[in-house]
Formats: sequence, C-alpha cells, structure tokens
Amino acid sequence: MSARLDLILLGPPGAGKGTQAKRLQDHHGIAQISTGDMLRAEVAAGSPIGREAKAIMESGGLVPDAVIITMLGERITRPDCARGFILDGFPRTVPQAQALDRLLEEKGLSLSAVIELAVDDAALIERIAGRFTCAKCGAGYHDRFHPPRVAGVCDACGGHEFVRRADDNRETVTARLAAYHRQTAPILPHYAAQGRLFRVDGMAEIDEVTRQVEAVLAGLGPSGGSR
Ligand code: AMP
Repeated sequence: MSARLDLILLGPPGAGKGTQAKRLQDHHGIAQISTGDMLRAEVAAGSPIGREAKAIMESGGLVPDAVIITMLGERITRPDCARGFILDGFPRTVPQAQALDRLLEEKGLSLSAVIELAVDDAALIERIAGRFTCAKCGAGYHDRFHPPRVAGVCDACGGHEFVRRADDNRETVTARLAAYHRQTAPILPHYAAQGRLFRVDGMAEIDEVTRQVEAVLAGLGPSGGSR
C-alpha cells in the first residue's frame, strides 16, 4: 500500500485551483505543480519555451501539448514529489490526460482522485479580473472580495508591491474560459469513466471548499481512486 497522494484539481481559470492546491501542499506535504506558474517562470527567464509561450498565454490560448507534456514529465520526477503531487492547470486537453495516464503507468503510479471545482462563468470573470498578489511573498488578494487589511500593505509579509497577471483582464479571461469549455471540459468524462472524478462546489467560501476537498480525500480507499 502506498502512502502517496496524487491528485488533479480541475476547473476553469479563477475556480480557486491555485488556492486549494497550496493548502493541499501544506496539509499533506505533496508538491503543488502549476503548469501556468512553470510557464510564467519560463517567460520571465526569457527561455526558448517562454518565448514560444508568451504570446499564446497573453491571447488566452493553450500552449502546445508536446511542450507541456515534456515539461510535466520532467517535473513529476523531482524529489519534492516523493509523497505525491497535486496538479493545478494540467491536464488541459484530452491528449494531455492520455499522456498523463501513460506517464503514471510507466512510473507504476495511479491517480488518487480528480477533483472538479464547479463554478459559474459570470462570477469567474468578476473574480479573475480583480485578483492580484504580493510581489514579495505571493499572498493572493482581490480588489473587492479580499483586499489587504491595510490598503497597499501585504497582510502576510508587510510588502508594499503587488503584481497582476498580464492575462487577468476581461478580454483574455473570456478567451481562457472559452478554451476551458472547448478543450478542457471534455476531460471530465475521461476521469468519470475511470471512477476517479469528484465534484466540489467552487462557489463556496474558500474554507468550505477546502473542507469539501478534504472530505473527498478522507473518503478514498487505501489505494485511492474509489468512491
Ligand atoms: P493558469 O495559470 O493555469 O491559468 O495558466 C495560464 C496560461 O498558461 C493558460 O491560459 C495557458 O496559455 C497556459 N497553460 C497553463 N497550463 C497549460 C496546459 N496544461 N496546457 C496548455 N497551456 C497551459
């Protein structure tokens, strides 16, 4: 019996995958793997992958499967994945889901659960267009729903600089949502057929979403993946 926990968080941009993934990382000692964060680091570094990905990301489209699959395949072999991982923003297409199945099989692993954060499109645009993070510690905020306690000062580290993602504007968010419905939502039946798909209410308060996610994990059998 393995003590690993290998999870996928699925849901449209702004569903709260990053927030929940960070909590899972802290609670369970597993690695949060965000392909979006990895790509943003490549863009910031000006690497060949970053140069290829930049314009695609700014337009709200998806980076080619081959690039992402190679990046992810290397990432899940790193030491911080020894107890498992939580994938945030991957897979995003059916070919990526199939490639992940093959990668896991090669490594003798299997998914513990795929958790869908179900949300409402109109509310998402509102959520994403207002979000920003502390430039120093990465703490997340929102203009309306979660401003810092003292304007301009990070609650967590006292930092004074904040950043907004280049693709968190209404136009790009609309394109990202369209990409989700066209290319990512078709993954859901793939995992439902494997009996690994669980759905939680992504519109609930952050702590309540965490509670629902933890309830799913508590209900997994010893080898994971069963309802
Ligand atoms: P995210 O931070 O997950 O919202 O990702 C930001 C952007 O990075 C997306 O809009 C895509 O352009 C790109 N991206 C992230 N993950 C993937 C993926 N698994 N496949 C293709 N493109 C991705």
